[in-house]
Amino acid sequence: TSAKRYTGRFAPTPSGPLHLGSLVAALGSWLDARAVEGRWLLRLEDIDPPRCPSGTDDVIRRQLEAFGLTWDGEIRYQSDRGAAYQAALDRLIVDGMAYPCGCSRREWQQHDHYPGWCRHGSRHPERKQAWRLRTDKGVQPIIWQDRLFGRQCLDPSGQGDVVIKRKDGLWAYQLAVVVDDADQGVTDIVRGYDLLDNTPWQRQLQSALDYPEPRYLHMPLILGSDGQKLSKQNLATAIPDDPVKARPLLYHALQLLDQQPPPELREAPVAMQLAHASRHWAPEALTATPTRDLH
Ligand code: GLU
Repeated sequence: TSAKRYTGRFAPTPSGPLHLGSLVAALGSWLDARAVEGRWLLRLEDIDPPRCPSGTDDVIRRQLEAFGLTWDGEIRYQSDRGAAYQAALDRLIVDGMAYPCGCSRREWQQHDHYPGWCRHGSRHPERKQAWRLRTDKGVQPIIWQDRLFGRQCLDPSGQGDVVIKRKDGLWAYQLAVVVDDADQGVTDIVRGYDLLDNTPWQRQLQSALDYPEPRYLHMPLILGSDGQKLSKQNLATAIPDDPVKARPLLYHALQLLDQQPPPELREAPVAMQLAHASRHWAPEALTATPTRDLH
């Protein structure tokens, strides 16, 4: 039997419009998929509604379209997926891999991470409970291979029992991302370096839920002129949703991915730039540094 068909995805949190940093992440994962004629999915990680102004999903959709980054199938919204996350949590509970916890951050602030006090029963059953993953029961340490950064060996118990459902009832990123990647048959995760240290928890959740292990490629994060990661929080400039204005920015994003696009393509229509870039996609040209400066 042949290998499973490549399925990649872009999974932004719709807390604001996409900026150059998110464009680079979207473009890297799009190219990696399209270079092998794989599928590429768009998933909006809107699990935290107060952080996601309504209408941002449309802005993101138009921005991606302007850059020619088309996706396959329907857009998935994580806000529709509560039942699936609950089913995964129930399974972890039955298997003794998740436990309720009413501790407040203040109570454990002397420790560098939550010390697992509620593992054998909630200390404060009268309070609202969060659910945490037991990181002391899985395979230790977690080892995986990053396509750019090589062999990774991180001990999730060194990072503590991560929250998978919050006290306020909202689902946590770690659980939602793992459930949806598995449900959507994602084979390849290409995303920013800032998520590399989340991967041990995600690997542990995958193994606890018997999900297949995807391949990972973390890409250097783009830093702004102030040396900070470009982010919605520091109000990085939104990329345009106009296909003509998109041209030079797409070109710049290809340079930031070390793809050396030919200079004559700088003002070319996005479809032409993308056709060239997917034919010549060379992820090995990426420099294995956590960050890189905007230039
Ligand atoms: N939603 C996450 C973010 O915007 C990314 C999820 C992922 O790629 O795993 O940072």
